[in-house]
Amino acid sequence: MSTVDADLDVDLDKPVRCDDLEVTEARQAQVGSLTVRRLLPLRLRRSVGPWCFVDHYGPADVDGVAGMQVPPHPHIGLQTVTWLLAGDVLHRDSLGNEQMIRPGQLNLMTAGRGIAHAEESPAPHQPWLHGVQLWVALPEASRNVAPAFEHHAALPAGRAGDLQVTVFMGTAAGLSSPATAYSGIVGAELAAGRHAAAALPVDPEFEHVLFVAAGSAELAGRPLGPGRLLYAGPGREQLTVSAAAGSRLFLLGGRPLGERLLMWWNFVARSPEEIASATADWRAGDSRFGQVGGYQGDPLPAPALDPSRLRAR
Ligand code: MN
Repeated sequence: MSTVDADLDVDLDKPVRCDDLEVTEARQAQVGSLTVRRLLPLRLRRSVGPWCFVDHYGPADVDGVAGMQVPPHPHIGLQTVTWLLAGDVLHRDSLGNEQMIRPGQLNLMTAGRGIAHAEESPAPHQPWLHGVQLWVALPEASRNVAPAFEHHAALPAGRAGDLQVTVFMGTAAGLSSPATAYSGIVGAELAAGRHAAAALPVDPEFEHVLFVAAGSAELAGRPLGPGRLLYAGPGREQLTVSAAAGSRLFLLGGRPLGERLLMWWNFVARSPEEIASATADWRAGDSRFGQVGGYQGDPLPAPALDPSRLRAR
């Protein structure tokens, strides 16, 4: 997915204050015709481990309408993680990959130095669409790797307490995802078939967020529903989760990145010059990003850029 607007260009001159355990509210954002809950980045928290962008959308009734329509757009410096709870989405990229994704599967696109992709509801498509679009910031040593795409049709799944745990990135509950990762990371979906309670073991070197995609839960003692994000700082051995029957939750975390990210539009970089150069390359149709074949329609134009407003943190 893409940030069609340029609202990641947040003014970051205010001092940073982050509590060890806190709940924050999503911002509403528009991605084409879809309204999304944007849980990250936050003004005061740009990343959690390497996770630097968290959109939760739906469940949306897309029966007989276009559904998701995100035209070709570029990325640098990140991995996109696509995970569905309901529906289907077709991915096409400038490496020539064309891949349908369905619930329980992972599409992982490593942008590295540059890639372009489009995502759309296929025709015909399932009547409901519900999912998350996540970005992982690549660390300094890996952020210019060659672009790549992976589809994982099945991911390791097991139990933690009463919760069903499916691990799509890194390791959780003793299960490891086969997906390529470049830094210490965890990404998992937690499902409660009936009312479920668990003490979820976590890596004490990692910071984490938990959020509810469906249903309701009490996380580390805080009540949460969709549209709220719980942050838990490093130093914990476990996170307590109590979830109502039918709830679907996400656990994301990792070793704190310790790098100042500069995020603008669909780019994760370190300097305004890199952002300006990627924007110019996209506008020029440069081979750095290539062409996305098969999409009916024009690519997304880059929004207007004022490099003097960009600040890293
Ligand atoms: Mn995208």
